[in-house]
Amino acid sequence: MKAISKPFVAISEDSLGATERLFYPECGPMPYESIYSIYLKFSYLNGIKLSAVDRPLNIISEQQWSGHVLTSWLESRVADIDSHLPWRYAPYKYIYSNKLGEFRFCKECIRFGYHSVFNSILTHNVCALHKCSLTRACFHCAVEYLHGFRPCQSIPHFMKKCSVCGFQRIELTREFRMRRSPRLLSSLEEFGRRQAEWYESIFDVDLVYFNHYCEQDEQRNYLTGSFEILTKLKSPETLAGFSRVIQSCIFVELGRDRDCGQSYPETQGAICEQLEARHLGRHQYCLRFLNEMLRYPDGAETTVNLCPISLAYLILRIKGVYGKWPVPGSTSINLAGMPELASWGRISDPISNYRGAFLLFLSILGRLQYHISQGCSFAILCRPDKRHLIVGETERVIIKKATYSFRSMCQRSSSRVRLFRNGVGGPITVIVEADKCSVDGYFGIKNVIF
Ligand SMILES: [Zn+2]
Ligand SMILES: [Zn+2]
Ligand SMILES: [Zn+2]
Repeated sequence: MKAISKPFVAISEDSLGATERLFYPECGPMPYESIYSIYLKFSYLNGIKLSAVDRPLNIISEQQWSGHVLTSWLESRVADIDSHLPWRYAPYKYIYSNKLGEFRFCKECIRFGYHSVFNSILTHNVCALHKCSLTRACFHCAVEYLHGFRPCQSIPHFMKKCSVCGFQRIELTREFRMRRSPRLLSSLEEFGRRQAEWYESIFDVDLVYFNHYCEQDEQRNYLTGSFEILTKLKSPETLAGFSRVIQSCIFVELGRDRDCGQSYPETQGAICEQLEARHLGRHQYCLRFLNEMLRYPDGAETTVNLCPISLAYLILRIKGVYGKWPVPGSTSINLAGMPELASWGRISDPISNYRGAFLLFLSILGRLQYHISQGCSFAILCRPDKRHLIVGETERVIIKKATYSFRSMCQRSSSRVRLFRNGVGGPITVIVEADKCSVDGYFGIKNVIF
């Protein structure tokens, strides 16, 4: 190991191509180690400032990678460098650039100087190997350690650990101490391979859904179970031991009928009448109670047992009438007056006929079961920009299915889920008995947007 600082401070492609004086260990990187981790080790080992090689930690795409000064050097010396590039597993838009404040790591992995390639994916929040959530490097650590080698830097004690975020400098001394454990290497290989397979397989399911999955935590949580069913693989979260309720799902053709769709939409009133006749026959009683609850409250709090079918149907109607709900003075959405509402203009989803509305109803019902199965109480808000029917690559929408036992919950005498609304017209709150999340009264309950 030699630390040559001066000749390499201003590094150029020529000098990289010509020199053999740069050093990288022959054993190569750890399995599925991130390119950023490789860069940092490279920097410390060779005594080169990262800024001198063109800010490699900001590289987040194939294009930037191919144009970088170190690329060809690494490609010729590191076997299978592709497996260390995060954009191989997720679209570059959803990769952290690891600017200050964005570097996430596993507190256990960092002890042996390891940073996984998957940690840079925006919605990837777990370490599958250590069964824990990732941590964000604090500002101090980002400034101190993510710039790589700096000539003026005091040599930190190599076991030093940040008392704020738990970060430790990523470098080879730690790695070499751990390399003696063949079990560790085979575990990194095994978990890395399974996660790589996961990302590659869900990419193949549907690109539109894959993008949503990588973009937002909420979408990822919602889609993970469905992807597990469709790919028959375990998600990183499941590998990490975060339990989840598996709810089956279906891909359905949305079937937008262009002729009698956009130009002659069926009215909301007509569609609601049809829905009520076909699916709410046995729930007239539940519907009446729920309507009462939604009527502008007279100052009295109300609690009723949950009827999922009626609630899903009422959310559908609310979305069709109000852009945003609840608002002061928001009342029940009785059928009266609905025939005048011609289209579903307020809804972001592509609805032009009964079938579209029915699929939206099914999607709301499936989501209700999904949220209730998380075991936490929540408040229901309706927002116009919330989309349920996300149309995938092949014009299909994915819908989580509600089970028969969930749909018929109101037919059983003792319901473990109740609905509550305060006397001043707040949101409907779904109270899950034996709430897993500690909630103080009805305050601090999370909102779920429909
Ligand atoms: Zn870990
Ligand atoms: Zn820190
Ligand atoms: Zn019912």
